[in-house]
Amino acid sequence: NSDDNVDVVVVGAGVTGLTAAVRLHEAGRKVVVLEARDRVGGRLWTETVDGVRLEVGGQWVSPDQTALLGMLDELGLDTYARHREGESIYIGRDGVRRTFLGEAFPVSDATSAEMERLTKELDRLAAEMDPLSPWEHPDAERLDRMSFAAWLAEQTEDEEARDNIGLYIGPAMLTKPTHAFSALSAVLMAASAGGFSHLVDADFILDRRVVGGLQQVPLRLFERIPDLVRLSTPVSRIDWSDDGATVHAGGESWQARHVVMAVPPTLVNRVQFSPALPPVHAQMRQHQSFGLVIKLHITYATPFWRAQGLSGTAFSPYAVVHEAYDNSNEDLPSETRGTLVGFVSDEKADALLGLSASARRDKVLASLAGYYGTEALSPVAYYESPWMADEWTAGAYATSFDIGSLTRYGKHLRQDVGPVSFASSDIAGLGFQHVDGAIRMGSSMSERLLSS
Ligand code: FAD
Repeated sequence: NSDDNVDVVVVGAGVTGLTAAVRLHEAGRKVVVLEARDRVGGRLWTETVDGVRLEVGGQWVSPDQTALLGMLDELGLDTYARHREGESIYIGRDGVRRTFLGEAFPVSDATSAEMERLTKELDRLAAEMDPLSPWEHPDAERLDRMSFAAWLAEQTEDEEARDNIGLYIGPAMLTKPTHAFSALSAVLMAASAGGFSHLVDADFILDRRVVGGLQQVPLRLFERIPDLVRLSTPVSRIDWSDDGATVHAGGESWQARHVVMAVPPTLVNRVQFSPALPPVHAQMRQHQSFGLVIKLHITYATPFWRAQGLSGTAFSPYAVVHEAYDNSNEDLPSETRGTLVGFVSDEKADALLGLSASARRDKVLASLAGYYGTEALSPVAYYESPWMADEWTAGAYATSFDIGSLTRYGKHLRQDVGPVSFASSDIAGLGFQHVDGAIRMGSSMSERLLSS
């Protein structure tokens, strides 16, 4: 059947795969996209749960994400600002809840000075790094062999400064404990977002949302090539040689000159390759793993915190919910309810996942009450995003290397194996672990295949 004979099989209909597929199709190449799930979008999923429209996966857009902003423009999608008027909340090491305006946490002058110094130092290191090749950083070897926690301990004796700076990259970004990833990976996270200062500034990094939800991006890409995307088609085996590949999914197979594995590195390992991938490829992907964060959506009859002069933004490295924001759907004129989004990361998430559903809910609501008062204990809807238990993601937000592996394996990240190429936001430079990086990876992959 000639339909099964294509130029490129794209495995995965997330933003990376769909971007590559649409570009290749527009350039006249014959493409098929094989997607395991019964929907497109991968880690982007806008869904109505118990009558509330939620961003189950990714949602925010920041000004440095120019590839994503360009794509929103191309797809005719509008954005709106996250609600941020009012005071933010911080709970410090002393357990005291304080409100504040602006981006600087209300900590002692000494801690504040240390946080400023560390921010400058991380900005300096990030400015020296090309996020596409962090292993070429002048101090790469040393920084990759020490944990971020150890680097922070080397920099300052101020525990609260360490905990806060650690928070921005550990729980809030890589979603791993700061002792579990290298200082070089931390600098990569900063460099990929245009600098550490951007990560500290919630009004920058969590600037805007997309009208109708961020899954509109993959949905609109899909609308351009609906007949070329096969849902519920998990790829299980790829037979390859230098001349091309046969891709097997279910009882079917496709012949292709090229295959793009547009899946997270951890899921590359689930596919059987024949012959097997070269040792360095098999090894490399055993050193990349998903972080763990539980994204929580808590809806109230009204956004009650606004009446108290609060923005809804809350942070504490010492609370179960380490960060929370007003996530009410400002793009829905009829919406009068208020939704908070909160996050529980890494070891705190482990502990939470060990509890029953009702004990988890109690613990989360108690943590929110610590920020917003007892009104937070009575939501009208409560939902936990299920990524960590989903076999086609199995974690959140994305994957990163263990200590020492960025310098050991990094240069192989985007290397082809015969006709097989690899792309996903997890191996992006700019936009690493973000939708922006997925678009960059998908675009550069299509450009490379078109010029080959
Ligand atoms: P994916 O979206 O993971 O797509 C891979 C696709 O491949 C999936 O659809 C999967 O089903 C499919 N697949 C896997 N294996 C196979 C197989 N064997 N056969 C066929 N198909 C297969 N980013 C932001 O920019 N802003 C945010 O606010 C943000 N928040 C986030 C919040 C959460 C809770 C999560 C989980 C992520 C968030 N992210 C955010 C990250 C962002 O969603 C991802 O970086 C991006 O969507 C990844 O796109 P991708 O196409 O590279 O990978």
